[in-house]
Amino acid sequence: MQMPSPDASILANKAAIVARLQQVLPLDAVITDPIEARVYECDALSAYACTPLAVVLPASTAQVAAVLAACHEMGVPVVPRGAGTSLAGGALPTADSVVLGVARLNAVLETDYDNRFIRVQSGRTNLSVTGAVESNGFFYAPDPSSQLACAIAGNIAMNSGGAHCLKYGVTTNNLLGVTLVTMAGEVVEIGGAHLDAGGYDLLGLVCGSEGQLGVVTEATLRILAKPEGARPVLIGYDSNAVAGACVADIIKAGILPVAIEFMDRPVIRAAENFTHAGYPDVEALLIIEVEGSDAEIDEQLATIKAIARRHNPVELRESGSAAEAANIWKGRKAAFGAMGQINDYMCLDGTIPVSRLPETLHRITEISAEFGLDVGNVFHAGDGNMHPLILYDANKPGDLARCEAMGAEILKLCVEVGGCLTGEHGVGVEKRELMVTQFTPDDLEIQLQIKDVFDPGWLLNPAKVFPLHATKGRRA
Ligand SMILES: Cc1cc2nc3c(=O)[nH]c(=O)nc-3n(C[C@H](O)[C@H](O)[C@H](O)COP(=O)(O)OP(=O)(O)OC[C@H]3O[C@@H](n4cnc5c(N)ncnc54)[C@H](O)[C@@H]3O)c2cc1C
Repeated sequence: MQMPSPDASILANKAAIVARLQQVLPLDAVITDPIEARVYECDALSAYACTPLAVVLPASTAQVAAVLAACHEMGVPVVPRGAGTSLAGGALPTADSVVLGVARLNAVLETDYDNRFIRVQSGRTNLSVTGAVESNGFFYAPDPSSQLACAIAGNIAMNSGGAHCLKYGVTTNNLLGVTLVTMAGEVVEIGGAHLDAGGYDLLGLVCGSEGQLGVVTEATLRILAKPEGARPVLIGYDSNAVAGACVADIIKAGILPVAIEFMDRPVIRAAENFTHAGYPDVEALLIIEVEGSDAEIDEQLATIKAIARRHNPVELRESGSAAEAANIWKGRKAAFGAMGQINDYMCLDGTIPVSRLPETLHRITEISAEFGLDVGNVFHAGDGNMHPLILYDANKPGDLARCEAMGAEILKLCVEVGGCLTGEHGVGVEKRELMVTQFTPDDLEIQLQIKDVFDPGWLLNPAKVFPLHATKGRRA
């Protein structure tokens, strides 16, 4: 993975740039010591790292606007950052950039239960949004596995999803409005506390724009009344392809569980060793959860179990209590962390049509053998969002390059079978060069022109999303 060379004139001008930032922010909101700034050198795609020129931690929309206006005037690139949990390198800095972290923007600004929305500053963590409303019987639906740490800012930028998005949709389906600051420091309100707004769907454009168009400082989010109840069932199979076929049949039957999660043997074993959730040692495990009243749950689970039985499961376990349900979920929620304990890995995020799941899993196994690197699969099977985890050794020369090449093959496969490069993690630097497999040069040009409108100087979040060759002239 390549990043552009830093602008030598910006590096040479660091003292003046920092002095300017210190004019618009309190002293403790500007980090200039390279040792302290190293905390911000990477996100969760830790294979790539670079210490930024400086880090700023504004605490209000006005401060964000002042920072951006100053950087705009000085021609300094800015990398917006939420909690730094991106798996695509979305928050990776360049040496000549200022990282703008929104961690201090974490207040709840308004809750309205009658109209079912909450307005928060964008640095608030995902889980604490639900935390702010759950005592009143509400919740915020998008639930990335990183929800304890990740910020609403990053969720909006990456259009993040999670296990329960099969039923409730991803961030864009639960976002009503944002306050956005452009690179020039202009504050713009988009959407509001209501469904849809007049004119072009600018909110849809901003959600998933990966910090390319502006910095989100506030968000109005839809909150939902908690369902009466929920119950998961755990189903084990002795083949990935059979588990994939079971998922395809459930979706075809027209049932809409809240979640259908898939883990294969390497991930099941790692999760079991890490959490002792009581998972069986099988080739593939499905966790399927449905919601509603007891009667609704019983009816939906009866159909799901009947479909599952047609595929001869090795194990079929319905949770009988809240504790058992929590146990079934415990291993899945900790799966990424569990894999990280045993190996370096790169987590992919391709999406495919659900009906192509069995053959795609089979082909991934073949690709893994061709490249000589093991792969574990854990993903949101209901909506076809695959997360192959490629295991490699970061200390072994050549292993990362092999892992990158293998990841590219798998993502190209996802596009080939009718899917796309990213379901929820975003493009970042990881899939940047692969955009040409999904988009024609004309498609890409239109996307570049949209960026031109919001950020004509190409200073926001440089060298992300678009192939480097396609943006070179613009970035210059
Ligand atoms: C263990 C683990 C599990 C995960 N599980 C899931 C999952 O289930 N589903 C899922 O979708 N993702 C998942 N992720 C990926 C990640 O958590 C999400 O992409 C998340 O939304 C990133 O949020 P963040 O606050 O950490 O953003 P960051 O990593 O800080 O940034 C992500 C992107 O957002 C941009 N950005 C940040 N703040 C702003 C802002 N204020 N304005 C504009 N742009 C901004 C950044 O420039 C960057 O491009 C997981 C990650 C980990 C480590």
